[in-house]
Amino acid sequence: MTLEKVFDYYKQNKVFTRQQLVDLLHDDRPDTWDRITYEADQVRRKYMGNAVHIRGIIEFSNHCFRNCSYCGINRNNPNLIRYRIPPEVIVDTAWEAAGKGIKTVVLQSGEDLYFTGEMLADIVRSIKPTGMAITLSVGERAEADYRLWKEAGADRYLLKFETSNSKLYTHLHPGASLHKRLYCLEVLRRLGYQIGSGFMVGLPGQTEEMLADDIIFLQALKPDMAGIGPFIPHPSTPLGRSLPGNVTLSLKVLALIRLMLPTAHLPATTALSSLHQDGRKQGLNGGANVLMPNITPIQYRKLYEIYPHKAEIMQSPAELYENIAQLLTQMDREIANDVGNNWTMSS
Ligand code: SAH
Repeated sequence: MTLEKVFDYYKQNKVFTRQQLVDLLHDDRPDTWDRITYEADQVRRKYMGNAVHIRGIIEFSNHCFRNCSYCGINRNNPNLIRYRIPPEVIVDTAWEAAGKGIKTVVLQSGEDLYFTGEMLADIVRSIKPTGMAITLSVGERAEADYRLWKEAGADRYLLKFETSNSKLYTHLHPGASLHKRLYCLEVLRRLGYQIGSGFMVGLPGQTEEMLADDIIFLQALKPDMAGIGPFIPHPSTPLGRSLPGNVTLSLKVLALIRLMLPTAHLPATTALSSLHQDGRKQGLNGGANVLMPNITPIQYRKLYEIYPHKAEIMQSPAELYENIAQLLTQMDREIANDVGNNWTMSS
């Protein structure tokens, strides 16, 4: 099938078939990438407009009881100084961000049961009066905790499924299952959270067919937000000697997801800008409408080392916002002045 025919099919059906996705991912001609990016940019413009939503992320603990084989903060990495940011500092950091006009805060950590349901609920309650939307991303927890946090005022939850291939999932996450991860997403949705999910591109053992399945799976999941980033090997993990995910392939996947999920919030992820200095800009040019500056207090930032050479390790929040403002001006895009809830909600 020619590229023209594939896009004719897309325009009639608003989806690609699995085979079309595999072919598009496999086809590494620059023209193909250009076309996918161009179409994704059109769809982003049409459904999401020119506004870019800024979500400030606070990585508040790098303690983790899991041993995911790609992740640098997994419990078996002995070469890492572990930290927990005191609750009052987390809350202050969020208030500062709100003062700068940030409209969403994302609280992320390893799976750290030191932060009990009640403790996190208190943190959420203390941030809520800022008026910011609050996203939690702390992994798989009991339904009772998810409920407590929702009642405390949490709006959204980010839990990536990482890969939709359950064999690969089990291989990468000893002792965990895709089934359980998806069950958590189901519970979160039932409790009324806006759901964020996503997966990594270029995981060792991941084929183009699996990536096509990931895209189709994501579409069926209909998340309000999806984070897609390249896998980046961390030397102190079992996958430390693997090759990183390909940036172009990751950008292509991002653009295809924009085409398959026209109204989802899609960030140009930190992993993209960590592998390529223009990654963020290219993401925004190819379907993305969200940026997630890292506003973790600087002394902790480099310790949340899920992968090495993470972008935005040293800049103050003021510098980060300034860089974003400059980039967006350059690109003729603007910072959103609403909270950026899911598409069907009014604010
Ligand atoms: N504990 C939380 C947060 C995990 S870290 C949870 O379970 O959801 C946030 C995300 O970082 C993960 O979902 C994963 O997609 C990504 N990540 C972790 N290690 C990575 C690596 N080596 N390369 C790229 N992305 C990685």
